[in-house]
Amino acid sequence: MKYVTLPSGEQVPALGMGTYMIGENRSLHAEEIAALQYGIDLGMALIDTAEMYGKGASEQLVGEAIRGRHEQVFLVSKVYPHRATHKGMPIACGEYSLKRLGVDYIDLYLVHWRGDVPLAETIEAFEQLRSQGKIRYWGVSNFDTDDMRTLCALPGGEHAAANQVLYALSHRGIEWDLLPYCGERKIPIMAYSPIDRTRLLHYPGLSTLAEKRGMKPAQLALAWLLHREQVIVIPKASSRAHIKQNFAALDCPLDTETLAELDRLFPPPCDASPLEKQ
Ligand code: NAP
Repeated sequence: MKYVTLPSGEQVPALGMGTYMIGENRSLHAEEIAALQYGIDLGMALIDTAEMYGKGASEQLVGEAIRGRHEQVFLVSKVYPHRATHKGMPIACGEYSLKRLGVDYIDLYLVHWRGDVPLAETIEAFEQLRSQGKIRYWGVSNFDTDDMRTLCALPGGEHAAANQVLYALSHRGIEWDLLPYCGERKIPIMAYSPIDRTRLLHYPGLSTLAEKRGMKPAQLALAWLLHREQVIVIPKASSRAHIKQNFAALDCPLDTETLAELDRLFPPPCDASPLEKQ
């Protein structure tokens, strides 16, 4: 496993597992649990979920998958922005997410996107949960560079442990300013939708290049992200076969020729653009 260092110095797996849409279909339940447990066994021991996913169904399933082995897993969940308040966050975390997940603490708790609640209040609410031992770290999601500037200028804002954003070969806008901004502050980026929700799999240039290198397109897309420093990659996969393939992306080092070809197929940004979201 490759690791990424949090601002605290703690290391977490660079390749984890997403869980959007997981836990919503009873007939897939056993396979989804088995897939997550297989991923943990392989070392992809970082799981991303959110109170929003399936109205709690994803947290519930993750809780089942990690029962009795939370200490082996770095658990990430997210709170709705409108609940990221003094009053709302203790309820969202303490009354709901922790119970659904069946754990005493969440390793990293993110605000899902920037809403109308003043960020200073959100930071205080996070810090309170941290002092109570209900979360170990807090961070943000879908924060653009200006949002990060505002956050980092606030008291305690420098304690943000990650920013989870859309980042994939087909969405490289963050390379212009957000990625360097977070990099300078040692705040890791968590790349969501790294396979662009399968859209990348059907991109002819990518399939041809992957085939030439003896890889699957999903593996090439993941290997490209894993090649970056301080980027945590969280593909969602609901079968053991996909988990196995994704794990193997760690063993796909990319040479300069492949990287150049990928830049040709998916050009890096040449200007600032607003943060893209799914
Ligand atoms: P994604 O990971 O880019 O794509 C998921 C899709 O790729 C699924 O249909 C999955 O199929 C398929 N897949 C996975 N591995 C594959 C492989 N080796 N070969 C072929 N297909 C493969 O999209 P995502 O779920 O949007 O993003 C990943 C995670 O990021 C989410 O699950 C969620 O945890 C997080 N996220 C966060 C935000 C946010 O606002 N913070 C937004 C979006 C996503 P199967 O399920 O059939 O395996």
